[in-house]
Amino acid sequence: MTTEAPPRNLDFIREIVEEDLRTGRHQSVITRFPPEPNGYLHIGHAKSICLNFGVAAEYGGRCNLRYDDTNPTKEEVEYVDAIEYDVHWLGFDWGSHLYHASDYFQQLYDWAEELIRDGKAYVDSSTADEIRAMRGSLTEAGTASPYRDRGVEENLDLFRRMRAGEFPDGSQVLRAKIDMQSPNINMRDPVLYRIRHAGHHRTGDAWPIYPMYDYAHPLSDAIESITHSLCTLEYEDHRPLYDWLIENVRVPSRPRQYEFARLNLNYTVMSKRKLLRLVEEKHVSGWDDPRMPTIAGLRRRGYTPASIRNFAERVGVAKRENVIDVGLLEFCVREDLNKTAPRVMGVLNPLRVVIENYQSDGEWFETPNNPEDASMGARKVPFSGVVYIERDDFMEEPPKKFFRLAPGREVRLRSAYFITCTGVVKDDRGEIVELRATYDPATRGGDAPDGRRPKATLHWVSATHAVDCEVRLYDRLFNVEDPEASGDFLLNLNPRSLETIPHAKLEPSIRTASPGSHYQFERLGYFSVDPDTTTDKVVFNRTVTLKDTWAKLAAKE
Ligand code: ATP
Ligand code: MG
Repeated sequence: MTTEAPPRNLDFIREIVEEDLRTGRHQSVITRFPPEPNGYLHIGHAKSICLNFGVAAEYGGRCNLRYDDTNPTKEEVEYVDAIEYDVHWLGFDWGSHLYHASDYFQQLYDWAEELIRDGKAYVDSSTADEIRAMRGSLTEAGTASPYRDRGVEENLDLFRRMRAGEFPDGSQVLRAKIDMQSPNINMRDPVLYRIRHAGHHRTGDAWPIYPMYDYAHPLSDAIESITHSLCTLEYEDHRPLYDWLIENVRVPSRPRQYEFARLNLNYTVMSKRKLLRLVEEKHVSGWDDPRMPTIAGLRRRGYTPASIRNFAERVGVAKRENVIDVGLLEFCVREDLNKTAPRVMGVLNPLRVVIENYQSDGEWFETPNNPEDASMGARKVPFSGVVYIERDDFMEEPPKKFFRLAPGREVRLRSAYFITCTGVVKDDRGEIVELRATYDPATRGGDAPDGRRPKATLHWVSATHAVDCEVRLYDRLFNVEDPEASGDFLLNLNPRSLETIPHAKLEPSIRTASPGSHYQFERLGYFSVDPDTTTDKVVFNRTVTLKDTWAKLAAKE
């Protein structure tokens, strides 16, 4: 007997981690998720969260949550709270390892003085424009600043006066002294510190200078003994600077950076700056609008943590950028809710059907909560002589392939009876307002003793018992695959991305539905209860339709 586990298909990050553990390069894995608290987390961040926390958990290590709060003005407490809520909601935990880059400001400053003393950093008194001009380009080398050869003492004095707040914003910067000829622009004496007389949400007015991301990030990793610093591909060209800092600063540990492809999704925008515009310009109701690709939006829409984790796993971790079809995300939530969401009947666009030969006051039928999972039990659904069916389940003059209700035709009402349409009632304008029907008492429970089988089974709701609900139907927020491809992405907003149905008819069991719970409305899709729900009115969001109708509709247009 062998105890060996079957070989797993490892992505390149997990291969590196396993190798490092195997060779003893590291005894354990420490990763970090480093959000900048300047917006809500989105589905791209979810990929990074699942990777960082996932790798740590799989190899018995840990993952720190570290705020990359080196930028004084933009960060807000609302975002901090939302980030922590979202990471926990996704199912991950940093335990006691919650950190802030701003906690390290003093250490980062001390290391900057050390670099100056080592002749590896200098204060540049050039303007931002001059520095930019001296940087050169992809094809031309940079040129040295006239301040590049300042002596250590002068540099130390100037840097300390920067720190003391003696200079106005933009008048001086601290730069690393690396190589103005480097083919990699990031290595041409990058700026390490700039002056910003601006309050910080944690350090207040203590610091008039702030470290640049490229300086703070690797050193924060080193302070936290991060073993594998996982980031997206845009940072590949910054890795030589990352390594230079680890090499040239007397850091307590030697983390390494690895880059993976960021998640791109079609029919949406993902950068926080653009999401912020959607919110600020009120194209959506907020960061948690169910059309937003934010975790808060997906949650409100009815996505489950498992569906998002599953999505991240299916997308995988690779080194090449690509665009993932949002249909995959929808597939993942459908797959999860199919197993877990109880079924209910609800009619979005109701058409009254009067069953003329039904004499009783009404009766209750038992129906399973989930035909795929008997352990979810059953519930009772009331039936009466007037029911609502979906308007488009009836056609007065049905074409050949239409098998649902039509004059003279018999259909099954799910779990109840077979009914036959006997008449159509119209208003003055010729609109159908009601149907007349008869039912067959022998088909009680939804089966005929003679074995006849109608071609269609419809969902329905008893009119006397129906509960009026508001149902919000969502479509893609943008009507093109790549909203950013040309011009202003806001020009590509889908004007029909939200349709509100004020009076959908639901079976009475949903009266007690609580916000956040999920249902499958039979034949229609998955819906979840919106936090706008009150004791008087339940509000539902359509999470996703039962089948992917988008591809079909798009093909027709
Ligand atoms: P945005 O472009 O939305 O502003 P960002 O990268 O500036 O994103 P951060 O808060 O700095 O936002 O990101 C935190 C972490 O999440 C980083 O490690 C970043 O690489 C990762 N991340 C951000 N966007 C994606 C994405 N689309 N796919 C995978 N990881 C991402
Ligand atoms: Mg960032």
